[in-house]
Amino acid sequence: MSTFKAPKGTYDLIPPVSATFLAVREAIAAPLKNSGYGYIETPGFENVELFARGVGESTDIVTKEMYTLTTKGGDQLALRPEGTASVLRAALEANLHKAGNLPVKLWYSGSYYRYERPQKGRYRHFSQVGAEAIGTEDPALDAELIILADQAYRSLGLSQFRILLNSLGDKECRPVYRAALQDFLGGLDLDEDTRRRSEINPLRVLDDKRPEVQKQLVGAPMLRDYLCDACKTYHEQVRELLNAAGVSYEDDEKLVRGLDYYTRTTFEFVHDGLGSQSAVGGGGRYDGLSEMIGGPSLPSVGWALGVDRTVLALEAEGIELELPATTSVFAVPLGEEARRLLFGTVTELRKSGVAADFAYGGKGVKAAMKAANRSGARFTIVAGERDLAEGVVQLKDMESGEQEAVALDKVTDEIRRRLG
Ligand code: AMP
Repeated sequence: MSTFKAPKGTYDLIPPVSATFLAVREAIAAPLKNSGYGYIETPGFENVELFARGVGESTDIVTKEMYTLTTKGGDQLALRPEGTASVLRAALEANLHKAGNLPVKLWYSGSYYRYERPQKGRYRHFSQVGAEAIGTEDPALDAELIILADQAYRSLGLSQFRILLNSLGDKECRPVYRAALQDFLGGLDLDEDTRRRSEINPLRVLDDKRPEVQKQLVGAPMLRDYLCDACKTYHEQVRELLNAAGVSYEDDEKLVRGLDYYTRTTFEFVHDGLGSQSAVGGGGRYDGLSEMIGGPSLPSVGWALGVDRTVLALEAEGIELELPATTSVFAVPLGEEARRLLFGTVTELRKSGVAADFAYGGKGVKAAMKAANRSGARFTIVAGERDLAEGVVQLKDMESGEQEAVALDKVTDEIRRRLG
């Protein structure tokens, strides 16, 4: 063991779990690729100001959890804590919104960083797959994204998740509600931190998990009663589209989420097998974000699903993904001449698209067969001096255990035939 360890709050993805991780990423991306979303990749760090303005000065993410650094050139950067601000920044910078085709639909996959108190399901480095639909106000777009996330989770076999849905109003009705809520909060007995939060972003106080706070919140004005007609109609349409698609959800009028940019539709995916870190994904509409980072008005909607927690959700439901074996053929050479010839066969198999591996390191037959077994390969090719003298190799079907001599120059074709 080396003297170095992975930094606190991080972990390494290693086989075989890493294969599940990759499969989860692909399963989340598949419905997006199938629905007009194009792949986007942005840098792992951005100007710190982008997140301060985009995610919100009052959020925990910005005030407590960002990894910030000053470069030798004096630039203030931050490791990205989330994807939306970066993706919108990139879309604006490339003028994608002016290319004429709105919405601009993008998906991404990558690493995100938050300086959080580590615990199961909460890490300082984690992975998300996300989607953003930029530049269009249409309830069908909000519904589309929720449906695609639902489809992604279901394609993995998950069923013990719930979709929480709310509307946060818009720039007409939210300020009225905000003032009413602030008024109410002003009359409560709150600690200094919470009082400050109620001044900057009172809606987030509703999200406070502490029972002593929740107790006082009984009777607080609810946003639902303040939504303007336009927001009400919009939300009703999202709900109807989800109903029609057979996607079930729960109305949760306390759902506000930890980022400031959300307007109207907000949603979260929670999994009941995950304990306290139960949110596997979340998102919503962010109609004001573009203007907040200096762009034109571009009403947009998006989500991000956590890959780490989705893998934990699979474990919680006892789901093992059926992953194809990474190796189809394993070659076991006995002796120098066999090594040379079988190495050629392996190269030929790989070129023709068959996943093949080789017993390296001059192992004895016992150790080599063990390696063949461990590889999960369907077929093993074994060849010793006697075989080669006859111009054959032994082709063993690891499933049936049957073994048969096959001419060396025919073995590639024979394997491809058997693999279909
Ligand atoms: P958020 O941007 O906070 O809504 O996060 C979206 C999703 O990313 C969450 O639902 C989690 O699945 C995942 N996520 C966020 N923060 C962490 C973290 N510290 N560790 C692991 N996953 C996280």
